[in-house]
Amino acid sequence: MYDLVIIGAGTAGLSAAIYAMRAGLSTLVLEGAMYGGQIIVSPTVENYPGIASVSGAQFAQSLYEQAEALGAQFAFETAISVENHPTHKTVHTDASQYDAKAVILATGAKNRPLGLEGEQRLTGRGISYCATCDGSFFKGKDVAVQGGGNTALEDAEVLAGICKSVTLIHRRDEFRGEQHQVERLRKLPNLQFRLHSTITALQGDNALQAVVIKDLQTGQEEPLAVDGLFVAIGQIPQNEAFRGLVELDERGYVVAGEDCRTSTPGVFAAGDGRTKTVRQLVTAASDGATAALAAAEYIRSV
Ligand code: NAP
Repeated sequence: MYDLVIIGAGTAGLSAAIYAMRAGLSTLVLEGAMYGGQIIVSPTVENYPGIASVSGAQFAQSLYEQAEALGAQFAFETAISVENHPTHKTVHTDASQYDAKAVILATGAKNRPLGLEGEQRLTGRGISYCATCDGSFFKGKDVAVQGGGNTALEDAEVLAGICKSVTLIHRRDEFRGEQHQVERLRKLPNLQFRLHSTITALQGDNALQAVVIKDLQTGQEEPLAVDGLFVAIGQIPQNEAFRGLVELDERGYVVAGEDCRTSTPGVFAAGDGRTKTVRQLVTAASDGATAALAAAEYIRSV
């Protein structure tokens, strides 16, 4: 029986592991894929207080090494469900099962697709969800990015350094991402903005050849020939395994306040997968600390 099982090894989960180990809890971290979470694909992180600039991969690596050095255990297995018993929780994975006194849900979110016909077929054949991973395949080529958040802005900047041209397509004229990054993009000679616009169709059989862009003000549609499309329109929370264990909101986020407590005692939620207004590295790390300390308090009290 572990004191704590943390599901998810992104920034929230790894921060929780660090705080849990320092609070003296025996801790197992479960991760279905690679540790590090979403930040590993960010080329540069420049908004984490106290760290002027670091790559997302390096940031994640440091977090992982810090948690491991403190004695956190890791199992690279996917959590499938969590059973709530009066005395403990049982986490079922694709390979095993683990009992714990408390559980932290830190599974974050995954990329949202555009939902267009042909999107799945053309993924890996021109369509990508990760500029850092796939940008180099489009060296010297024409690409488009859809989205207006920090991910889209970062992707556009990375791609402008690699590709012949980048068209940033966003459905509004204001960006959700940071204004100073928008200003940087405005200075790039090979980047153009298509605002009030969205992609309505994908063209190409075996590889993407063009996207059809609709101007949302005029209703006019026209194709833009591109070799690549980077989709950066936000995330979908990864909480389906916990439906029935804890309350989820209408969009699938775990309902939990700043104290990270869910509707089920002994189950806590940390990071992008919980209801919150600001989803940033620093708030994910903050959630990890809060959830781990709340779990320690819960374990002491039962
Ligand atoms: P996001 O902030 O949720 O932005 C999603 C963008 O996609 C929005 O501009 C949204 O438009 C647009 N969008 C959503 N659905 C769409 C659809 N169906 N069709 C067309 N456009 C659509 O997502 P994100 O950029 O992936 O960022 C996620 C979180 O991670 C954010 O909190 C972000 O700040 C954070 N992040 C931080 C860093 C960093 O700190 N370095 C880097 C990357 C991401 P509207 O604006 O019109 O809603």
